[in-house]
This record gives sequence, structure tokens and C-alpha cells, in this order.
Amino acid sequence: MGRLDGKVALISGGARGMGEQEARLFAAEGASVVITDVLDDDGKQTASDIGAAATFHHHDVTSEAEWTSVVDAVLAEHGQIDVLINNAGIFRFGATTTTTEAEYRQIIDVNQIGVFLGMKAVLPHMIERRSGSVVNISSVAGLMGSPGMIAYGASKWAVRGMTKAAAKEVAGFGVRVNSIHPGIIDTPMGQQFDDAGVMAMVLQQVPVGRQAEAVEVARLALYLASDDSIYSTGSEFVVDGGMTA
Ligand code: NAD
Repeated sequence: MGRLDGKVALISGGARGMGEQEARLFAAEGASVVITDVLDDDGKQTASDIGAAATFHHHDVTSEAEWTSVVDAVLAEHGQIDVLINNAGIFRFGATTTTTEAEYRQIIDVNQIGVFLGMKAVLPHMIERRSGSVVNISSVAGLMGSPGMIAYGASKWAVRGMTKAAAKEVAGFGVRVNSIHPGIIDTPMGQQFDDAGVMAMVLQQVPVGRQAEAVEVARLALYLASDDSIYSTGSEFVVDGGMTA
């Protein structure tokens, strides 16, 4: 307990799924948690379940103006941002020959541009304070070729690459940037594998033979958010039940 005492964490896409579990765990470990999402009802409910340690802000990660206003609001309320979890994301199946340009651009807009804008909005503040940890949520699809998900895979490889570039830019200022690469996680997004009837086939590629609970990813995010990981930056942290071994 208390591994994030006194810290302020901004979690994008924190209304449900992995972001929700990160918000709950971080608050239990002493952080003030700012949840942002486009799902207002879910976000408000999650914040109210957590209690006084959490607030919710409506926020579309594809909008630079909304990033600016959320960061301004958090700094006005808390005076600092110690942790940014760039977690918001969307997933759609789609192969190279069947994905439309609009579908491709939509996934890149949320998963890639959203992460870029988040780092752009928060890093100047962390650099000024000479402290901070950014955790970008990529995927196993950012570590290997993933057929049937061309746009999603591209966006997650981009997150991995941006993480490394940004980490090198800010390491001298005491700011760290790492990526997390989850495998198959039991969230509303993970449900799409069930809905498409491919979960059993996908789980054959997972040596431990099951999906992860979202909190199993949140525990890794906690490590990267906390000072326990102080010497780690620009690295990939995999939580995939052996899928990419
Ligand atoms: P989820 O769909 O349960 O949660 C994602 C959240 O992001 C939702 O609350 C959604 O409303 C929010 N969001 C979507 N677009 C947004 C936008 N434009 N602005 C703000 N918020 C937005 O999914 P999850 O499984 O919890 O996914 C969290 C992250 O983990 C995503 O980046 C996802 O790509 C990644 N991931 C998930 C899995 C998996 O198996 N579930 C595996 C690897 C990586």
C-alpha cells in the first residue's frame, strides 16, 4: 500500500476495462486519479465508486484542444501530474485488402495520434518539474505482425516507437516513458474476440491458456508509474501469458 502516495495520475480511457482497473489500483495505492474518457456515464460511475481520490473529465484523446483543457484543469486542481497513462484505444478487425481508408485513419487517430497528443500535452510540465512517468499502452500487436488487424497493429507499433523516441528526448530531465504490451485481456475490447468466434483459436497461441484479468495489467502499470521502476525508460513491458515468447 502507498506506492503512489502524493502522486497525481491522469488515465485516458479510464471509464472501463484496463484503465478502470488502473484507476482503482492507483487510488488504493495513494494516488489522486483523474479519469478521462468519451464515455461520460461509465467514467462518472467509476470515479464515484472510487470516491474522493478520483475525478472524471470528458475528453476525446484525438483533440489537441481537449488535451490542453484537461491538463489545465488537472493542474488547476492538483498543481501537478506525476503519471500519465495513455490507455484510451479502439480495436477493429480488418485485413489490408478489406480495411477502408476511413477505418484505417480512425484507428490511427485514436491509438497513435491520441498518444502523441497526450505526451505533447503533459511532457512539458513533467520536464519543468524534473519528474514524471508516462506509460503508453501498446499491445502484443506492436511486437509482431498481426494478420487481420492492419490498422490496429500499425497504431500499436507506432506507440512502441514513439515511446522510445520520447524516452530518449526526456531522460535527461528525470522523466520516464515506457510501453506496456498486453496480450488477450478480459475487457469490453477483448470481448470482440469472443464475438467474432475466434477466442478459442487465439488462446491456442497463449501458453498459459487463458485471458488475463485487467487488474493483471494494472499491476504492471502500477510498477511503471511508481518509483520502483526508476531506472527503466524507453522499454517494452510485456504481459501476455507467454504469447510472444
Ligand atoms: P476498452 O474498450 O474496455 O477501454 C478503452 C477505453 O478507451 C474505453 O473506455 C473507451 O471509451 C476509451 N476511448 C476510446 N476512444 C477514445 C477517445 N477518442 N478518447 C478517449 N477515450 C477513448 O478496452 P481495453 O481492453 O481496456 O483497452 C485499453 C488499452 O489496452 C487500449 O489501448 C487497447 O488497445 C489496449 N489493449 C487491449 C487488449 C485487450 O485484449 N483488451 C490487448 C492489448 C492492448
